[in-house]
Amino acid sequence: MRDEAVTVPSDAAFRAAVLERLSSDHGGRRDLCSVRRAMAAVLRGVVVPIWQSALERGAGHKRVAYLSMEFLIGRLAGDTLLSLGLRDAAKAVCLELGLTLDDVLEVEPDAALGNGGLGRLAACFLDSMATVGCPAVGYGLRYEHGLFRQGIEDDKQTETPEDWLSRGYPWELRSARSYGIGFFGTVTDGVWKPSETIWAQGYDVPVPGWQGSFAGTLRLWAAEAVQSFDLGRFNGGDHVGASETEASARALCRVLYPDDGTEAGQTLRLKQEYFLSAASLADLLADHRAAGLPMETLPDHVAIQLNDTHPAIAGPELMRVLIDEEGLEFDAALKLARGVLNYTNHTLLPEALESWPEMLLGWLLPRHLEIIRMLAGAMPGAGILGGSEVRMGNLAFAMAGRVNGVSALHTELMKETVFAGLHRQHPERIVNQTNGVTPRRWIAGCNPGLAGAVTAAIGEGWLTDLERLGELEPLQPGVVEAMAEVKRANKVQLAAWLGATQGVQVDPGAMFDVQIKRIHEYKRQHLNILETIALWQEMRDAPQAGWVPRVKIFAGKAAPGYHFAKEIIHLIGKVARMVNADPVTGDLLKVVFLPNYNVSLAERLIPAADLSEQISTAGKEASGTGNMKFAMNGALTIGTLDGANVEIRERVGAENFLLFGMTAEEVSSRRAIPDHAATAIEAEPRLARALEALRDGTFIPDWPDLFAGIADNVSGPDHFLVASDFADYWRAQREADRWFADADGWAEKAALNVARSGWFSSDRTIRGYMADIWGISPVSA
Ligand SMILES: *Cc1c(COP(=O)(O)O)cnc(C)c1O
Repeated sequence: MRDEAVTVPSDAAFRAAVLERLSSDHGGRRDLCSVRRAMAAVLRGVVVPIWQSALERGAGHKRVAYLSMEFLIGRLAGDTLLSLGLRDAAKAVCLELGLTLDDVLEVEPDAALGNGGLGRLAACFLDSMATVGCPAVGYGLRYEHGLFRQGIEDDKQTETPEDWLSRGYPWELRSARSYGIGFFGTVTDGVWKPSETIWAQGYDVPVPGWQGSFAGTLRLWAAEAVQSFDLGRFNGGDHVGASETEASARALCRVLYPDDGTEAGQTLRLKQEYFLSAASLADLLADHRAAGLPMETLPDHVAIQLNDTHPAIAGPELMRVLIDEEGLEFDAALKLARGVLNYTNHTLLPEALESWPEMLLGWLLPRHLEIIRMLAGAMPGAGILGGSEVRMGNLAFAMAGRVNGVSALHTELMKETVFAGLHRQHPERIVNQTNGVTPRRWIAGCNPGLAGAVTAAIGEGWLTDLERLGELEPLQPGVVEAMAEVKRANKVQLAAWLGATQGVQVDPGAMFDVQIKRIHEYKRQHLNILETIALWQEMRDAPQAGWVPRVKIFAGKAAPGYHFAKEIIHLIGKVARMVNADPVTGDLLKVVFLPNYNVSLAERLIPAADLSEQISTAGKEASGTGNMKFAMNGALTIGTLDGANVEIRERVGAENFLLFGMTAEEVSSRRAIPDHAATAIEAEPRLARALEALRDGTFIPDWPDLFAGIADNVSGPDHFLVASDFADYWRAQREADRWFADADGWAEKAALNVARSGWFSSDRTIRGYMADIWGISPVSA
């Protein structure tokens, strides 16, 4: 039901408004881009009043400030149409104009303001907070170019700037909020005099909840020069130099994760982190002061969540404001800060735990380094400083009221490893909140067929109460068949798209086996491609042996400086080239690497997947959220006992999950064996043969040892234990073949994955944060 207070146009009014916009703003043009923009303008006109009324309803209520360097929001038009119940109306208008809605939606730029799971989590949380009635502002940066756009040339990754803003962004409103943020300078007697100031200009993206029930805000800060143009300099003849301060200020928000291999790059990165933190705090405190509330009551009105350590400098910044501007004593300021700050840890990988050289931090933020040293002095056991570096994870932990992990396993490992010492001192501080994903985008939006089948079986209401998927059990025969039919249709559609856009012909009857995520050694795309090579070799030996046909689909970006990950992409491309042209294996095996993985591509692939590859080295994946999206779309997981895989398996049932590999504990002990890889390879001739193909020029005859580096790594002291898990991975893959060959059995397992995935809704996660971390109750309807 739509909220009574919300005015959503009728289908006829929507049609008229779009046509009116087309004529008034686009000269009546009917091309995809004009129609897209006209529709966005109309939707924005519906969303903004919903947003404003929600802000009024939430006024005075305690709220969340979710600070994140990434918000991987994806396209917004499709989601908005769905939520407002206007999808059919939009389809009809597009048809009338000689277009299809899918084509129109497709031309919206996908805002790539994130890198992976952490950024997508922030986006799912915004949707869930708006839907469950949790007042919230997501604070981020308005990167002009986001993360790079990935292309593939000669099977290798290329990187070009993403230009999501170049033609204007219809979903944002330039806000009245702006603040001067200081950098560098000197401190005398505790007074900081910055020598550079950059203006933080807010841009608001309204985030409507499901059917306009409530709404939140995504507030992105853009960097602008305090004085953008030097008229004197210009008139003096320096026409380009007159805009220098503007260019230098804007450099701050050009890209997400600028290369930090140089000192300039490191400084820029820390500058971004402080810019986000300081502008967001200034914004919160401005509201608090404007409401006439005493500073001591801050924790009653706001909870700040730090999404990983990137905004951890918000801790010292809050202390600075409380001490230097509000005149609080150090102890009182720390108590207050801890009352509002909370920190989500996302990784146990030591190289991913941020630390900043004291020299650099003290140069950019001299007063903050003083405060950090005071904090370190007040909490000598916290490990805030070490080896002339500021350890941001320890800093965030020390200043937070609550610290959370993102899956049950990850939270336990956090207590035993990175934060073991701190956990002993503060045993109540660490809590778990297993991640989730929004079912609006990740079921109803991307898989309307499945949503229809579910609604036909159990009625409406499950999209905002996902545990109700459990009502699909006991499975009625018709339901399993309907879901299998939807999967089949989704695969036919994907196959057509692959043929049309990638020039690869695949058989929709084959098993669609999908691994899509950032390319990283711990995620082990190389384990998957080695198994693919071994499978191809065996299929060639005996093509008539009754193989189950497979389509192996990969997608993911490699960090620009991560050479090994780029080599993995290159190898996948070369294997694809060889295998896809092989007449012996033909339709038995196809391999595809799709460029520029992003939210939109995920939405296209996940509904058509049979098998979900979640094969990280146990102990390395904090949670994963891709794994959840696949399960709720009826794919079976082949996976290790890592991150949220553990909980997925517990819920969907061991008999509906293809488990393989060592546990986190076994990984640790295995790693201690000096020849772990060599012995594993010796025991597994299939792996030896696949590795040989990387050295003998099978895939690149002109340069036979091009991939020897990957083979050497897997055969050597490989920290990620690809070789040691290979044999069991192969076994599980053949088990998957046997299960898939029994189509009815597979369909039932797939349906059970859907029925039992309700717990992985981010609505559940958000309710957990509200109850256990933020102390916020929902704003009632
Ligand atoms: C869900 C999602 C992720 C996270 O995937 P994992 O498999 O959990 O690493 C990354 N990128 C995009 C675009 C996503 O939609």
